Amino acid sequence: MPQISIWEKESFFAPQDVIIIGSGFVGLWSALQLILQHPQKKITVLERGFIPTGASTRNAGFSCFGSPSELVEDVASMGETNMWKLVEMRYKGILEIRKYFNNIEIDYDASGGYECFTKDSADWQKSIANLDWLNNGLEDITGEKNLFTVDNEKLASFGFEGFEHLMANKLEGGVHSGKFVQALLRKVQSLGVQVLTNIEVLDYVESGLHIFIHTNQSVDFTCSQLLLCTNAFTKKLLPQIDIKPCRGQVFVTDAIPGLAMKGTFHFDNGYYYFRNLNDRLLIGGARNKAFDAETTTDMQTTEIIQAELEAFVCRHLLPHTTFSITDRWGGIMAMGSEKLPIVQQLSDHVFCCVRMSGMGVALAPVVAAQVADLMNGVAIKS
Ligand SMILES: Cc1cc2nc3c(=O)[nH]c(=O)nc-3n(C[C@H](O)[C@H](O)[C@H](O)COP(=O)(O)OP(=O)(O)OC[C@H]3O[C@@H](n4cnc5c(N)ncnc54)[C@H](O)[C@@H]3O)c2cc1C
Repeated sequence: MPQISIWEKESFFAPQDVIIIGSGFVGLWSALQLILQHPQKKITVLERGFIPTGASTRNAGFSCFGSPSELVEDVASMGETNMWKLVEMRYKGILEIRKYFNNIEIDYDASGGYECFTKDSADWQKSIANLDWLNNGLEDITGEKNLFTVDNEKLASFGFEGFEHLMANKLEGGVHSGKFVQALLRKVQSLGVQVLTNIEVLDYVESGLHIFIHTNQSVDFTCSQLLLCTNAFTKKLLPQIDIKPCRGQVFVTDAIPGLAMKGTFHFDNGYYYFRNLNDRLLIGGARNKAFDAETTTDMQTTEIIQAELEAFVCRHLLPHTTFSITDRWGGIMAMGSEKLPIVQQLSDHVFCCVRMSGMGVALAPVVAAQVADLMNGVAIKS
């Protein structure tokens, strides 16, 4: 970057009320909440990539709030109260998405979601054993009776093989993550938020009422409040934080005429996920086949996971169809010792909203509202 002109200094690089680091779903939803609440404030989002470069534009695009086996598993790992809390956050997030964006803007596909099970698997046993209990709890949150229903007959019509049971969830949907991020960008920019890309924040120093932000460009920033929305990459700025970066890998096939499956699908506790994307099959996951190798911020796909996903498709999803793969990619999620996101005030003027545990599509609007409350000095409503 050459020397900065007075014009640039007094516009692009002028002191800001709020600086948000990261322009993924969480950073952009946070910017939206804050600018709607304080239209007069100067808000800038700093993004290290020339487009968002984490999980938000590299995911599978399920607006999910949990499959039956995942929710039962969550009770064991995080307790019943937190499991319901997380479900409610995701459900409210889906409502928020639909309030702000129409189906066309974000390619919202309301075809519903499913969990597939193999014969008598442990996942099936625990899901069917807890079905009524799950549905009662979900009715309290969503108002929908019998949200999860057994729908085994559909397995054959979807063309699947090797699964024995199917549970449907009519409230789950899919989005086009790229169009969704673009729509969010358009919205925040139209409201006056500045989004600057290709700027990596290296560190920051808090001094009195100001925060000084050092970047990899020859320009630094000053603000009154700083919000970290850096998800899996937060450790670089906050080494102590309980976050583990986890790679998720995906591929998409070319068009498969008559692809029968419709909706979003989960298998094996959510470790495999697939959907029909305009008659192309999108599949991702299999991280559990190489946990250590997939604990990384490197986005490159690997032979072992891609081969496993291909074998899974041949075995279960397209057993009698030849297909070719047009696109492969990886993205990075943030996991930790627990699944609830970290929405926290770190010091007088610094906040973070991170660790979306692989479900940030639906969570983002809700955690953004929570962190905006914190930044306004309002305690988070539980
Ligand atoms: C393969 C895959 C599939 C997934 N599928 C789904 C799904 O179907 N449904 C679902 O709900 N969730 C899914 N997820 C998870 C979901 O995408 C994330 O939870 C969500 O996108 C997190 O949003 P975020 O804004 O917190 O993080 P990110 O999108 O990762 O955004 C963080 C941003 O911060 C930027 N950044 C980081 N450090 C700095 C810095 N120092 N300076 C400047 N910028 C910085 C990054 O470049 C990045 O753009 C999936 C994730 C992956 C990888």
